[in-house]
Amino acid sequence: MKSNELDWANLSFGYVPTDVNVRCTFRDGQWGPIEETASEHINLHMAATALHYGQEIFEGLKAFRGKDGKIRIFRLEENAKRIIESAKGLMMEPVPAEIFCEMVKRVVKANERFIPPYGSGASLYIRPLEIGISARVGVKPSSEYTFIVFVSPVGPYFKEGFKPTNICVMREFDRVAPKGTGRWKVGGNYAASIAAGEKAHSLGYSAVLYLDPREKKYLDECGPANFFAIKDGKYITPASDSILPSITNKSFMQLARDMGLEVEERHIPIEELDYVSEAAACGTAAVASPVAEVDDLDTGKKYIIAKDGKPGPVTTELYNRLRAIQLGETEDIHGWNTIL
Ligand SMILES: *Cc1c(COP(=O)(O)O)cnc(C)c1O
Repeated sequence: MKSNELDWANLSFGYVPTDVNVRCTFRDGQWGPIEETASEHINLHMAATALHYGQEIFEGLKAFRGKDGKIRIFRLEENAKRIIESAKGLMMEPVPAEIFCEMVKRVVKANERFIPPYGSGASLYIRPLEIGISARVGVKPSSEYTFIVFVSPVGPYFKEGFKPTNICVMREFDRVAPKGTGRWKVGGNYAASIAAGEKAHSLGYSAVLYLDPREKKYLDECGPANFFAIKDGKYITPASDSILPSITNKSFMQLARDMGLEVEERHIPIEELDYVSEAAACGTAAVASPVAEVDDLDTGKKYIIAKDGKPGPVTTELYNRLRAIQLGETEDIHGWNTIL
């Protein structure tokens, strides 16, 4: 596809082929050279551990074309650190942060013509992934790994824009186990969430708000996104060892403090939703997606959060501040951007 044929303003959140992706393989105890390829395929052994025992981890981050025309990658080092934790969790070989950062910068530069223009609302989504490639039949970690970074220009996650949607709670499915892999960015967690997600979508909900898998009393996270709420002028977000530490959430916590809000990371019982003034899911894809209503499918209880159907003022301010940093419209006081 030619980048000048792309309709930036109407891109969806989907895969668009670009010019190249970058790869690096760990073999014989060391990471090899970084390779660029135009191929969209991987030549993989059919007994690779990624295919049978789920040795697959990934990341998701974005690059933006700023107001000044410069390219900014948001929180690159944080993503580099997080994939190391995910690798350790599944006994995979961690990709050194320098290699991670180098490869992300290289793939963004090589696909510069696919970075959507400033003002389009679109961005360049960056997807790093690591897989175990050794042939194994017995359950054992791989000794060889491939790390790939590809990019795809994406539009806003929700076509409707920054508008509250309804989400639901159900106790029929858990995404992760209490001492399981929830704190790592693992493909298997998503496999475990597909049935619940499809059920929620078929009932008209944008996502499932999971409860903690041990007691089913506290809020955990919102499918592929973290959850936060505003209560009595405080930013509250679940503390849980079964959720993925979202970098967007971490950024919002900092911005909330900058705005003079108190931040509480703690257990949030589901009943507390009766007392919150705003709520949202947050993650790289949508940044923040405000919640209108949380419906508990098992009890029939409905928690109405956005009473006028509009995003709340604090969520809107947080969203605008984060976007302004990503787009270079405001000073990056926390040093979150890597400028290429
Ligand atoms: C990626 C992800 C998030 C969001 O994390 P960000 O770093 O903000 O993009 C939240 N929950 C899960 C389960 C995820 O995989």
